Amino acid sequence: MTTIEAEISVDEFRAKARDWLAANARKRGEADVGPMGESHEMGSPEERDYVARARDFQAKLHDAGFAGITIPRGYGGQGLTRAHQAAYSQEAGPYALPALNGLGFGLFIPTLLAHGTEEQKTYWIPKVLRNEKIFCQLFSEPGAGSDLAGLQSKAERVDGEWIINGQKVWTSGAQIADIGGGPFRTDAELPKHQGLSFFIVDMHQPGVEVRPIVQITGESHFNEVFFTDARTPDTSRVGGVGEGWRVALTMLMNERMSLGGGGGQTTRRGGGEGAIVRLARELELFDDAETRDKVIDFFIQQRVLALLGQRMGEQNKGRQPGPEFSIMKLMGTRVGALITELAPNLIGPGGQAWESTDELGSKWTQNLLASRSGKIAGGSDEILLNIIGERVLGLPQDPRVDKDIPFKEMKVGRVSI
Ligand SMILES: Cc1cc2nc3c(=O)[nH]c(=O)nc-3n(C[C@H](O)[C@H](O)[C@H](O)COP(=O)(O)OP(=O)(O)OC[C@H]3O[C@@H](n4cnc5c(N)ncnc54)[C@H](O)[C@@H]3O)c2cc1C
Repeated sequence: MTTIEAEISVDEFRAKARDWLAANARKRGEADVGPMGESHEMGSPEERDYVARARDFQAKLHDAGFAGITIPRGYGGQGLTRAHQAAYSQEAGPYALPALNGLGFGLFIPTLLAHGTEEQKTYWIPKVLRNEKIFCQLFSEPGAGSDLAGLQSKAERVDGEWIINGQKVWTSGAQIADIGGGPFRTDAELPKHQGLSFFIVDMHQPGVEVRPIVQITGESHFNEVFFTDARTPDTSRVGGVGEGWRVALTMLMNERMSLGGGGGQTTRRGGGEGAIVRLARELELFDDAETRDKVIDFFIQQRVLALLGQRMGEQNKGRQPGPEFSIMKLMGTRVGALITELAPNLIGPGGQAWESTDELGSKWTQNLLASRSGKIAGGSDEILLNIIGERVLGLPQDPRVDKDIPFKEMKVGRVSI
């Protein structure tokens, strides 16, 4: 890996990134390496090919010194500032870079930085930065989504390792993941938040079965994951035994920040302000006053969101994101959904019913359908409003009658899995 000199100015770094991208990547529109997504079959050659290309590209990016720009040097990063990261992101904007492992970068790495041991950080972070280990988030279960602490999948300690049984659901990217991470119940005698521990699990072992779920768009990006006597060593426990809730909360807060910050699926699906401007021009609607008004409205909201994110990031000064970042996620998915609602309206009747040869109607309607999931993933709008009300504005809390009861005495805790 190239080590970039620690004193490099933002402008010099920007120039280096510009040169490297020009030599190694292709601009959007010139290359078909956009986000994986347009109706591929789970495990299809198309998906395998995309994943292989994304792994290769990420290793090259890391070798060149542009992956993990703000991550400490000892963990495979460059230890530079957020301003260096922002400069790289601006330069990379026009390029069609293969996007993969967003959960590894945005969720797993910050969580390890906050709670991992030195060995865990030095072992896992460089592998994630190079896409050698693709990560999936093992949180939701059939009976535990908004009420995540009510989860039932359990881990039992046997001879220095942990045996895992149970089921997770809605697990994005589990079909291509090398590792997963999430809370499992390690003590049902304790109240629900206290009896959890957080584990990293090898997804390629025989005790892990991944079954795709078909979405309304026809794609399968998330899955059910079944654990039957799967194993993980004690060295893969992040945080102490019984501290899984704290670790999971750090991951959730980082998820909300990254979903709201523009890395989220809805924004990606919509393609941002450039995509709607291109569409309006393509349809020769850009001079229409009403269209311009709507496009500008979207543009303004995107900018407000970006500035809000920048301000919150600066105020936070590298600390772990707190409950106020729920505002970013709530707003981010609302703004992201605006573009996917506007586009089919611009397209007109072809946005509702299209010929099989008409890519435009099909693409934007897929985007519209997919964008609804942003209001659920990573915490639903209602839950985020509760968090903002209770933990940011200090309003009275919802009654939580089961908070102090041992998990095994709760109805859900008495169901064996
Ligand atoms: C696209 C997508 C990707 C996802 N990826 C992952 C992933 O990778 N890993 C993972 O672990 N999970 C993932 N999820 C799951 C996601 O985290 C859950 O769907 C979400 O937390 C909601 O849980 P639930 O589906 O069980 O709904 P429920 O919790 O059953 O909620 C149902 C409805 O009730 C409302 N509700 C629930 N409790 C309250 C309350 N106290 N006050 C007010 N309203 C309430 C909710 O807002 C919602 O409208 C993904 C979901 C989606 C849509």
